[in-house]
Amino acid sequence: MYSERERFVEELQQIEDAGLWKQERQITGPQGAVVTTADGQALNFCSNNYLGLSSHPEILESAKSALDSHGFGLSSVRFICGTQDIHKQLEQRISRFLSTEDTILYTSCFDANGGLFETILGPEDAVISDELNHASIIDGVRLCKAKRFRYSHSDMDDLQRCLTEASEARTRLVVTDGVFSMHGDLALLDEICALCEEHRALLVVDDSHATGFIGKTGRGTPEHFDVQDRVDIITSTLGKALGGASGGFTSGRKEVISLLRQRSRPYLFSNTVAPAIVMAGIRVLDLIDAEPDRVERSQSNTARFRQAMTEAGFDITSGVHPIVPIMIGDERRTMEMAQKMNQKGIFVVGFSYPVVPKGQARIRVQISAGHDLEQIDHAIGVFTEVGKELGLLG
Ligand SMILES: *Cc1c(COP(=O)(O)O)cnc(C)c1O
Repeated sequence: MYSERERFVEELQQIEDAGLWKQERQITGPQGAVVTTADGQALNFCSNNYLGLSSHPEILESAKSALDSHGFGLSSVRFICGTQDIHKQLEQRISRFLSTEDTILYTSCFDANGGLFETILGPEDAVISDELNHASIIDGVRLCKAKRFRYSHSDMDDLQRCLTEASEARTRLVVTDGVFSMHGDLALLDEICALCEEHRALLVVDDSHATGFIGKTGRGTPEHFDVQDRVDIITSTLGKALGGASGGFTSGRKEVISLLRQRSRPYLFSNTVAPAIVMAGIRVLDLIDAEPDRVERSQSNTARFRQAMTEAGFDITSGVHPIVPIMIGDERRTMEMAQKMNQKGIFVVGFSYPVVPKGQARIRVQISAGHDLEQIDHAIGVFTEVGKELGLLG
């Protein structure tokens, strides 16, 4: 007998009463700078489509050709009969793109993080994690038996303290997001690398919000900080800038990648990545290299938006990332602002407690190379108009 209904209903009610209910807005066409919903069209400023490559015609063409040449799906994990030539090609292409020794594909970056720590760390090891790391890192770390240390967000003194406390461990491993998604701030990789070297620690960077568009040629945060040869392991996603469908990977030292192929549970016990995604992934990396103006446009659009919004009087933290948080503070006003923006055809989302600390509610804008200047300037205009209406600007 199903007697738990009451409890579940009560929990759902608590979520709603706390104002934490997440509504899903339905889009009726492809992802893009402009999206179509039942209410009409909206300018989209909240996707991870940083390069405008989700549903790009050449990507669609690659995916369609893969359906013809390699089929829809493999009905197998990699080591039984789920490895095609294109899976190996994409792994090599990613290694070449990131200048790493080897790469292993997963069906998501969530799985890449879920299968990493348990495979390479045991009870005699230590894992040291930034307190604001992504949920998938937290879960992946929970699955491993290493001793856990957590340092205050981007606090290098605190990281040093953890490294010193873990000095007896067989292996020390530091893990950080390359970019922290609620603020758009970059991990201080130059300082982190120096500390890792001083304390002989491995460094893992989850570059999901950076691969493809951060750094001069889009190699990510290691390129931005000029430490590409000093990061041991990178995890990242194909589900954001790199086409946006799904899929993830771990890239780095070849012995680590080999161990993952032998022992990583999400790799061994979950289906292979679909051929259409794999073929499109290869094309994405080729496009990024063949047309460097796309990365440049992501960066120049971001600079234009950040500068104009600052000049308009909005409170935004300085930085280089296309994630631009418009700090409002008050939860109710933030939701009101997001609603007004949406009514005026600008698709943005407000973030409040518990996703961010109380009193630090914000609207998180995400700029894309897929936006043209007119769209960026229009959004700035609507923000200014709504900001004045709500008394946020002087
Ligand atoms: C989005 C994200 C992930 C999850 O990526 P998926 O491929 O969608 O599972 C993991 N880590 C970070 C830092 C992310 O931003």
